[in-house]
Parts: sequence; structure tokens; C-alpha cells
Amino acid sequence: MLPQRCLLCGMACGSRWICVGCEEDLPRHPHAHCPVCALPTPLGETCGECLKHPQHFDATHAAFAYAFPADALLRALKYQSRLAIAEWAALHIELSGTRPDYLIPMPLHVNRLKTRGFNQAMEIARALSRRYSIPLLHEAVERVRETEPQAGLPRAERTRNMRNAFACREGFSGKHVAIVDDVMTSGASLNELARMLKKAGAMRVECLVAARTLRD
Ligand SMILES: [Zn+2]
Ligand SMILES: [Zn+2]
Repeated sequence: MLPQRCLLCGMACGSRWICVGCEEDLPRHPHAHCPVCALPTPLGETCGECLKHPQHFDATHAAFAYAFPADALLRALKYQSRLAIAEWAALHIELSGTRPDYLIPMPLHVNRLKTRGFNQAMEIARALSRRYSIPLLHEAVERVRETEPQAGLPRAERTRNMRNAFACREGFSGKHVAIVDDVMTSGASLNELARMLKKAGAMRVECLVAARTLRD
């Protein structure tokens, strides 16, 4: 099924997801950013936080900054089940360097999955898997603990809050794995999942996200 109307303004726009006018308003992720966590840095160097507290993931690729109107689109995906937005987001997530062996969507706890009916990270990962022909692992990891919302928690508490939130069902010895998520905020959940994947043998873990908040 081809898109007919712009996801943002509703104008007829043929086979595009977003019309040319709205496309210009999208907040592209800044070119100069920390290669590990994707926060902007003046010359694209590794940021101070990543030097001070090394992350368990090795790299992050973000398509957009989490700002208007990309934030509105991603909220509509999550809360209004506008699944076409996942297709659109996947078109803008670029891989660089070696291709991952697997894609793993950030898992939702089963209770949340029941309430929402779908996992937005899974929808984006499915579209990415088709686009790049990389296998998607649906059930390799599970969210075993319901965590409190991370917003507003200081860094140390976010890390503690996420501790052992995931269980890994498979070995990943020597594999390059990419975790897919809609939005990266503090990165605490991605970091904890990356820690589990490394413990399960993964050699390299990358984060592929539709949008990155530019300030913690
Ligand atoms: Zn438009
Ligand atoms: Zn960083």
C-alpha cells in the first residue's frame, strides 16, 4: 500500500510519507555528535559523559532530533497506533560501517504490550529488517521487570531503576547486534540491554533510534 497523504499535514503527496514542505521542517539529527551516544559535540568527538562512564553499547545512529514535528509523529505512533509512522521512521535510519547480524527491538513488558496492543520499537524494527534484509529477533530478549518511568530521575537512579530489567534467551557469541528503539532519552534502558547482550557474548552492540533527545 502506497502512502497517499502527508503524515503531518494530510496533503496529498503521492508515494511519499511526508510532503516536500513538511520534510523541510523535520529536525535532522546534528551531523557533529558523539559516535557512542549521539549527543551533539562540537567536532563529532566522544562526549565527556561517555568518556567518564563508558557505555555498554558501541555506537548510536539517530535519524532525527527529538523535537517538533518528529516528536509529534513518534507520539502519534506510540499513542494513536499510527503504524505507518514506523515505516517512515525506518526509511531515515541509516546504517554505517559493518552491517549488524541481527536487529532486536527494545522489548516492552508483557503488561504494557497488552495495554498498548503493539510495540512501537518492534514496528520500526520490522520495517528496518525488510529495508536492509537483516534478520529480526522477536523473542531473543524479554523485559522481565516493569520499570518506573525514567523521566526526572538522576543518572545513578536511572541506571539502578533499569538494573536486570531484561533477560536474554539466546547466546550472541561473536555477533554484531543492533537494538532498535523509537526514542533515545537518557539511554539507560539501551545501555542495560546492551550490557545483557554483551554478557551473552555479543561482540558489538549498536543503537538504531528514530529520534534522540538532544539534552539529557
Ligand atoms: Zn505535509
Ligand atoms: Zn556520548
